[in-house]
Amino acid sequence: MNHILPYDEIVQSKGITLASTCSHCFSAAETEDHMFFDCPTAKVLWCWASSTFSFSDISVHDGCKAILEMSKVLSSYLNDLWFTMAFSICRWLWNSREKIRFDETKMSIKEIQNNVLRDISNSTSLSKNNIHNTTFDLQGIKSLYVNCKFGKVPSIKSCMWILPDNNEVKLCYDGSSLGNPGSSGIGIIFYRDWEGRVLGTFFKSVGSTTNYLAEVQAIIDGVEKAVQRGWYKLWIVFYSYAAIQAFITNKILWKFRRKWMLLLSYIQSIRFSQT
Ligand SMILES: [Zn+2]
Repeated sequence: MNHILPYDEIVQSKGITLASTCSHCFSAAETEDHMFFDCPTAKVLWCWASSTFSFSDISVHDGCKAILEMSKVLSSYLNDLWFTMAFSICRWLWNSREKIRFDETKMSIKEIQNNVLRDISNSTSLSKNNIHNTTFDLQGIKSLYVNCKFGKVPSIKSCMWILPDNNEVKLCYDGSSLGNPGSSGIGIIFYRDWEGRVLGTFFKSVGSTTNYLAEVQAIIDGVEKAVQRGWYKLWIVFYSYAAIQAFITNKILWKFRRKWMLLLSYIQSIRFSQT
């Protein structure tokens, strides 16, 4: 609360003599901790809030920051609603205190809860976030009487994966480089046979290099692993047009040439495709 509200504890700290009594329960001095957490009225409201979101019980010892961070595990939409609920409970505890003190009228717990729910309902239009499509989220939405906000429905696109020829092994490559040059990895290479069975995977870091060099090395390392396993009919599928062209036109960098020629001596057939 940043000590902004003029509750009794703050007024007393300014040197003003005041007999402090909580306006809700009349059984304790009106401090910030008591008014917003320890007072029976506050406890009922926090219990209601925590059960709505399936949180553990909330106490003054949690602190405001920890209370707000409880919703980190929730969907972004429920996270927004929890923030609204937490601030709204504090708001209406204060408003209720003001009514008792200055209007001599008392708000019931139910009235405070309805006001909190109205705040939450009003805040939904401000949230640009979505719920997770889970039972937990839907139960939370139902308890708060607000509308669902679903994310975009994923669009389904057809795709096709062509099997290699009989006795041929298909190598599907991927690679990544953090910068060019930069730390690079060959990614994952899938070996599949003519019945679509995964025969193995392979990936490794190739240190700091350029995208192109990493791509060429990926092909050579992948073929080397295939040869070591006795697979001599290969189909290389890679996204890199430049790397594939280097092998098709036999214009391989000198540092890879010797190893490539050695591997080719084992290969019965090899073809390349770009994804
Ligand atoms: Zn009290």
